[in-house]
Amino acid sequence: MADEQSHVDGDRVLADLRALRSIGAYKTGVHKPTFSEPHMRSLEWLAQRLPEAGLTAEIDGIGNVLGTSTKSGPKLLAGSHLESQNHAGWLDGPLGVVYALEAARVINPDPNANGAVEVAAWCDEEGHFGSFLGSRSYVGALTEADIDAARDRNSDRTMRQALSEVGLAGRPRAAAEPGRHIGYLEAHIEQGQRLESDGLSIGVVTSIVGIWQYRITFRGEQNHAGTTRMDVRKDAGVALARLCVAIDDRFPTLCGPRTVWTTGRITLDPGAPSIIPGRAEMLFQIRDDDPEVIGPLEDLLRSMAAEVAGQGRCDVAVERLRTGAPAMMDARFQHAIEDASLLFAGGRSLRMPSGAGHDAQILATIMPAGMLFVPSIGGISHHWSENTGDADIVTGAEVFVEACRRLLAT
Ligand SMILES: [Zn+2]
Repeated sequence: MADEQSHVDGDRVLADLRALRSIGAYKTGVHKPTFSEPHMRSLEWLAQRLPEAGLTAEIDGIGNVLGTSTKSGPKLLAGSHLESQNHAGWLDGPLGVVYALEAARVINPDPNANGAVEVAAWCDEEGHFGSFLGSRSYVGALTEADIDAARDRNSDRTMRQALSEVGLAGRPRAAAEPGRHIGYLEAHIEQGQRLESDGLSIGVVTSIVGIWQYRITFRGEQNHAGTTRMDVRKDAGVALARLCVAIDDRFPTLCGPRTVWTTGRITLDPGAPSIIPGRAEMLFQIRDDDPEVIGPLEDLLRSMAAEVAGQGRCDVAVERLRTGAPAMMDARFQHAIEDASLLFAGGRSLRMPSGAGHDAQILATIMPAGMLFVPSIGGISHHWSENTGDADIVTGAEVFVEACRRLLAT
């Protein structure tokens, strides 16, 4: 029976996570922006642990940590990230890295286990400098020009400066070796409330949603707020507000069961109390894992924008800034996680899409990929109070390691 398998050391997993929290601690969370001193110390911490799993550690020229094995047989890549959002939680990223490390420590020295787990910590998943720079570099989707252009969104420090300051400039960037890995497995906290509210232990991720982003610009006529009669105004701000409300009224008729949309930023120009806005802009985002759902929604968005323009007061332009690339998780990986959940989580698992982006969506462009979630207390994430119960953390590790073993065995 497979209940003789797994052999996770739960105390070791918790101790490792706490050790990573103590580096750059902030309240009960951490503050580890990409290439900060605590981030670099966390990378070193991992590099020093990897030999315990029979892995050779390397920190590459973009700040990815990779642990590679010389064991024969199939290899499974596993990991997540070690930097954090500013003043954020202790598990977003490190959980997946420590699970991967634990899987490698359990499986790699086991002569009865087929193959090996190789460990990765991808740099800058949290997007301080760009978008998935580390994992994109590994899959060959990041050019030197992309690195030249990358800057810290908080400090304006360029990526080149940062790489040089932390001693990584000039190092080669590790690249995926075609055919080396049977796939990539990542664990992460859910960052939502579904598992907790349903009393479940494991989320089996079916897909990672794509993000479609739009800039919608309204052009009316800037004028005096006191002397311009209401019936002749061309108020770009009002036109924007009308569209915003119309979206919320009409999207539900065409959206999928899990489609979400957000107007995340509104700007009125010139943005003064006594001036009718002549120009307004909204940044609008739609997330779904099905591009077939997005097409009709985008058509509807454009027709509603045309309706607002047709009222004759403002021109409205809809510009797509970003086209979503949803990633489907591999069916075999989903089964392996579910089977492991039956053994180590009493079958308390649920198939669910991920509404947040993860490195697994980048790895999925070159190899089969899978993800599992553990519950987030209160659904809180990207905040220092983010947490998961110790028992859930250990259960997740058991399921993760068993899933790795099963994927390597077949
Ligand atoms: Zn994360």
